[in-house]
Amino acid sequence: MDRSVYTDDHEQFRKSVHDFLERQVAPRVEEFAEHKLIARDVWRAAGEQGVLGLEIPEGYGGGEAGDYRFNAVATEELAAVNAALASAFGIHFDIATPYVVDLAAESQKQQWLPRMAAGEAVAAIAMTEPSGGSDLANLKSTAVRDGSDWILNGAKTFITNGYTADIVVVAARTDPEKRSKGISLFLVDSSLPGFERGRKLDKVGQPEADTAELFFDDVRLPADALLGEPGMGFVAMMERLPQERVGAAVANIAHAKQILHETIEYAKERKAFGNSIGSFQHNKFLLAELVTKIEVAQAYVDAAVVEHAGAGLSAVDAAKAKWWSAQVQNEVLDHCVQLHGGYGYMREYRAARAWMDARVTKIWAGSNEIMKEIIGRDLAL
Ligand SMILES: Cc1cc2nc3c(=O)[nH]c(=O)nc-3n(C[C@H](O)[C@H](O)[C@H](O)COP(=O)(O)OP(=O)(O)OC[C@H]3O[C@@H](n4cnc5c(N)ncnc54)[C@H](O)[C@@H]3O)c2cc1C
Repeated sequence: MDRSVYTDDHEQFRKSVHDFLERQVAPRVEEFAEHKLIARDVWRAAGEQGVLGLEIPEGYGGGEAGDYRFNAVATEELAAVNAALASAFGIHFDIATPYVVDLAAESQKQQWLPRMAAGEAVAAIAMTEPSGGSDLANLKSTAVRDGSDWILNGAKTFITNGYTADIVVVAARTDPEKRSKGISLFLVDSSLPGFERGRKLDKVGQPEADTAELFFDDVRLPADALLGEPGMGFVAMMERLPQERVGAAVANIAHAKQILHETIEYAKERKAFGNSIGSFQHNKFLLAELVTKIEVAQAYVDAAVVEHAGAGLSAVDAAKAKWWSAQVQNEVLDHCVQLHGGYGYMREYRAARAWMDARVTKIWAGSNEIMKEIIGRDLAL
């Protein structure tokens, strides 16, 4: 089915991102997987390409697209090349950046946004802690006032770009007496004394993106590191999580769609019993089902993108898009592995890598169970 979401402007931008990725990024995916991080020069190249400044106002060196569909186009193109690229760049330009644009002090915006747009400063966002991620309101890291400064202590884990990040949006408790209303957000410069990183975590998939633990040992933050008002951190996160979740949904479907397309080509070429494996009725019907599943899921995700670009997507609809797309992605990719036979279990095959890369999408950005909690609550059950 033709998609009606994108105009010629979006498609032109898609082509420029696509060509950039094909030329400068796709050939280096193996290198990133080996080093477990994306090379700095590629961050800068993505900045030059205009991918990293989509959310950043022109006055701070960004492109200020002002239309979420450009973010979605970039995410689709990144995910089609490699899931980890969509994750690492997405955390930077689509997820962490809006906190800085909307909530940071002017001095911090001037210091960081031009560098973030240029890919010279890499951003991360640190909510999850070793003691738990789903129950965000229960986080344990603390920030205590000392004069006009804040002293940050605690630990975060599973932080995408954590090993590379120059700047991290950190959620910490500023009022031990309150639960969600006791949480504030800080923009933390990773070069400050007391900011430590653990090793690059050894993940099942997405080896190209770095993921790390972060430790804060009496990190002294200046007053202007506070993002927004004290005690409003939880609200700020809830307001911005729909964008993180619709972005995840866009990546999930684009990723599965691309690998399914490659699998269909494989099924045409691979022979068994003298015929292409795609010609067997079982496989033909299976591929017909998978193509349908992707297109139907895509229609919902496209509608979510349009809604988000307009009035703004509700938390409930974002939860639906996020969990369903993750489910469909994982189902589709499992079949893609099966259709590749033994080759589907070999890391050198894209279907195998994609299958491993996809497993996390049911866990992160709010697990599928938490998404169903949000949807269930809305049903007033
Ligand atoms: C590769 C990777 C990258 C990540 N990147 C980031 C990042 O950049 N920044 C960041 O802050 N976090 C990041 N995360 C963390 C991620 O968001 C958390 O792992 C996720 O929110 C789940 O938290 P948890 O791992 O502590 O699991 P837990 O909260 O301990 O949950 C364990 C299980 O219990 C289930 N569960 C929990 N509560 C309920 C409930 N009420 N009802 C039913 N089931 C429930 C969960 O769904 C899950 O299946 C990343 C994680 C991974 C794996």
